[in-house]
Amino acid sequence: MQKFLTIALMALLPFLNADAQQRRPVVPQGASTVTPGADTAKRPPVSPPNKPKPYNEVITAKAVSSDGMFKVHKVDDNYFFEIPGDMFDREILVVSRLSKAAAGFRTGASYAGDQINSETISFEKGPNNKVFLREISFQETGRDSTEGMYRSVMNSNLQPIGASFDVKAWAPKGGAVIDVTGFLNGDNDYFFFSPFSKRRLGLGQVMADRSYIVSAKTFPANLEVKTVKTYTLTAPSAGATSGSVPSAFTMGAPTPRPVTFELNTSMVVLPKVPMKPRYYDDRVGYFTTQTITDFDMNPQGIDRYRYIARYRLEPKTEDVEKYKRGELVEPQKQIIYYIDPTTPKKWIPYLIQGVNDWQVAFEKAGFKNAIVAKVAPTPEEDSTFSLEDARHSAIIYKPSDIPNASGPNVHDPRSGEIMESHINWYHNVMSLVRNWYMIQTAAVDPKARKMVFDDELMGQLIRFVSSHEVGHTLGLRHNFGSSSTVPVEN
Ligand SMILES: [Zn+2]
Repeated sequence: MQKFLTIALMALLPFLNADAQQRRPVVPQGASTVTPGADTAKRPPVSPPNKPKPYNEVITAKAVSSDGMFKVHKVDDNYFFEIPGDMFDREILVVSRLSKAAAGFRTGASYAGDQINSETISFEKGPNNKVFLREISFQETGRDSTEGMYRSVMNSNLQPIGASFDVKAWAPKGGAVIDVTGFLNGDNDYFFFSPFSKRRLGLGQVMADRSYIVSAKTFPANLEVKTVKTYTLTAPSAGATSGSVPSAFTMGAPTPRPVTFELNTSMVVLPKVPMKPRYYDDRVGYFTTQTITDFDMNPQGIDRYRYIARYRLEPKTEDVEKYKRGELVEPQKQIIYYIDPTTPKKWIPYLIQGVNDWQVAFEKAGFKNAIVAKVAPTPEEDSTFSLEDARHSAIIYKPSDIPNASGPNVHDPRSGEIMESHINWYHNVMSLVRNWYMIQTAAVDPKARKMVFDDELMGQLIRFVSSHEVGHTLGLRHNFGSSSTVPVEN
């Protein structure tokens, strides 16, 4: 897949970068703001300091609670996060996706599974019984945190406080309970659409009476929030890359209709110690982190570098010696791609084969069974499993007319460690490979001389695309060089 997929990926990369650049702090619903120039005489007096209550007056006997990265409590219609003491100041990757896309809305990111935001945040204790949500970026650094230059760089990189919460109650061991109902029910740039995605899709204000929290589920290293949000549409998206303008604008309605999405927000705690990164080199085609500007590396200037995106594959402790001897070992953590259970059954074996085809490449690096595909369980088979869960990589089958597929990844911005990937598989990619195969091979392959290919041939073409996209999600770019340097017969 050369040109089409290149375009898809190039389109994707600026999308994600732009997200990071267009960030602006937000104020959660219900938080107080001061309007510059407002008449100070009319301003209400400063509200009395927040007084946390005893724990069991907030998290009462009727609370429905679950334990994980944060404890989640639901008391009546209110959601509380209980942040354990040791989770303050930990870096948390927040990835948001559509879990159900809007009907009649096929502009840009508009299919179930599409990513709409990615952000790194942390929670920290502020003064006056507050908890702050801090936005974290990694554009500038100094190498040695004991050096003055490092402190100087940090002094010029104060990260924005994106939201503030009153501590409703203190919990044991330095934990704090905050009420996140308003934050999750309203709109903000960290958990829901990025400002860039909203502009691209033409989304306006969230309509509070048509939006609600579906669930907040907590796991040992992640927390998954599901919400339904209804937005006003501001204008047809100028950035539409495929399909037509949203049908809401073509139906003759005097005012734009609302548009409703179900969103899944994953909060994943990043490793305490980032994976050892590897520097990007122009000569080897990897996807990368954003550029980092380093003030320590070059004693008489600055250095700019990026890290490559790659999975963390390590031998199990008991296998380290074997691994060093060159024996094949299984990695500590296998790379698993789940196949969307809505995929047409006859293509599933080929999609799986396309993933498993990569095992040979990992064997060259010393790992066996490093990567495998499995069909995702249905809700009936496992009610705790979710394809949007940021711990899971997946190939998502989309009922789209786009003749393409794409393979993005979500990585730790500190190290390039790939955390997960959701491959976009558009149904109509079959027309693309049918056309290619017919044009390129019909002279020598009789199987290519008909408009509807046999399932076995189409299956093999699907296997090829599956393998190709998985390659992207492993961090690899197109290898343009090989097209000119490898003889055709190879
Ligand atoms: Zn490609």
